[in-house]
This record gives sequence, C-alpha cells and structure tokens, in this order.
Amino acid sequence: MNMNSEDSGQAEPSSSEQSPSPPVQATYPTGSRNCVSCGRSINWDSNVCPYCGHDYRFIAAPIEPMKRSAKPLLGGILIMIAGMLSLAMAFSFIVIDVSDIESWDYQPLTDSGFTPVELEELLGVCGTIEIVIGTIAIIGGVFAIVRKYFVLAVIGGIFGLIGAGFIVGGLLGLIGLVLVIISRNEFGRNPTRQM
Ligand SMILES: [Zn+2]
Repeated sequence: MNMNSEDSGQAEPSSSEQSPSPPVQATYPTGSRNCVSCGRSINWDSNVCPYCGHDYRFIAAPIEPMKRSAKPLLGGILIMIAGMLSLAMAFSFIVIDVSDIESWDYQPLTDSGFTPVELEELLGVCGTIEIVIGTIAIIGGVFAIVRKYFVLAVIGGIFGLIGAGFIVGGLLGLIGLVLVIISRNEFGRNPTRQM
C-alpha cells in the first residue's frame, strides 16, 4: 500500500498586496486658518498646531458655558445667617422671663392685655415655629452654597425672610433669596470645579 498523498506543497503566491488605501478625505472643507496661538497658517482640520503645539481639541469642547458667580454662595450665607437669627430669636422667646412684663418698654406687648402666662405660652409657640423656620432657612442656605436643589434654596430664602430673626434677619433673608433667584442657572450643575 502506498498511499502517497501529496496534497501539500502548493505554493500559493502570497497575496500580500495591500494596496495603499486611498487616504480618507476629510469631509469638512480643507484649507487653512490662522492659529489663534501663534498666528501662523495651519491646516483647517489640524488638531494641534504644528508650529506652537496649541491643542485645539480642548478648545473645541465647550469649556464652561456658564461662569460661576459668587451670588449663590453669598445668598446662601445670608440665608443661613437669617436662619440663625431666627433660631436666636426663638431661643430668646422661649427662655425669656415674662414675669416682669410690666417693666418692658415694648408697648405692643405691654398693651396687649395678655397675662404673663398667656404671653409665655404665646412666645413658646412662636419660638417653636421660629425654630422650624430658622432650621429650614439654614438648610436652604446650605443648598444655595453648594448650588444644588434650587427650589429648596428658594424655600430657605423665603423662610429666612418670614422668620425675620430680630428684624434684620428678614432683610438678610430677602437679599439672599434675591441672590439665589437671579443665579438660578448656576444650580444643579456638575459640581466639579474646573478653572
Ligand atoms: Zn500655533
């Protein structure tokens, strides 16, 4: 038996003819432009200036379409101060001794006809409400500072305003509220800081 099977050895011509692929033409108009960095003429579609190395790939991406102002920060601080003033006023309401109300100079209270017990209850209720208001204002101020949850920041400003801690707190709350509202488009953005 002579199974002489010679089935190999055929020399196929190695077809390694990789034709030079036609260069991919840019679809956008070719031409030249002036480098914004060095001013020399470079190809229109150059990613990097061959002369000065200016990298246009970073410029092409929108860097920071919205510039961040200090308004949310300032507004948030004012709202927080307003909230703290509300808390301080609430505390003074609760701990104040109303037994010597007759000696007060504050006519609206001394003329109100409330008995000291009634007045103490009233101040206690007002103080408790004021604590809630001041706390919400402080939380809203924090959200304004970190530029998140615009609605909560606005609510904080409103509560800072109506809390009116020692009167001036209301003014601070109002200013903070305005600052937050006019910087609305700075809220809810990616908090990554890029400069
Ligand atoms: Zn250049």
